[in-house]
Amino acid sequence: MPHNALTARPAPANLGRLRLFVQQLAQLLEQQPPEAQILDHGAQLLRALVSHDDWLPEAFAQPDPERYQQFLLHADALQRFSIVSFVWGPGQRTPIHDHRVWGLIGMLRGAEYSQGFARQADGRLQAAGEALRLEPGQVEAVSPQVGDIHQVANAHADQVSISIHVYGANIGAVKRAVYDLDGTEKPFISGYSNSLLPNFWDLSKEPPQ
Ligand code: FE
Repeated sequence: MPHNALTARPAPANLGRLRLFVQQLAQLLEQQPPEAQILDHGAQLLRALVSHDDWLPEAFAQPDPERYQQFLLHADALQRFSIVSFVWGPGQRTPIHDHRVWGLIGMLRGAEYSQGFARQADGRLQAAGEALRLEPGQVEAVSPQVGDIHQVANAHADQVSISIHVYGANIGAVKRAVYDLDGTEKPFISGYSNSLLPNFWDLSKEPPQ
């Protein structure tokens, strides 16, 4: 990707923002609050994280021409939560899928559509309302309690979009499902696109606080 002095993002990435988010989320979950509180307070924390686009290292912002990328940024030691950078190439989308745990989706760059689905009495899936369009700084929640089946798509046909997702488990290892509109369910374990994680613990690389 060509960069010049006018368009280059600040370097190095401001990883302190990601570290702070990890710490705040761990503190929140340490209190074992009810899910509604996790979604509410967690959304505030995630909104703060995605309201700045200066911290995601380039390695975790790279699209792939074949399929959308899911870069693990951090997994909690007890698998209580994971943080994933979703990178959508132009026009890319997920299949219709579920999560089985709570999740928060924060838009960092570009825009995406999330279309919720509800199961009908005959077992078929039907779109539940209009697709939600997420713009940078906005956050959406999913969970078996608030609506867990959706399909996410890059809102742009000609540019990359990136959203930061947080889940109440090591999401890449969760046994969940993708769906056809007729309600057919297929087992799905997403895994991750990366083998290396960002190192946000080298405090010597950061300006003094
Ligand atoms: Fe999802």
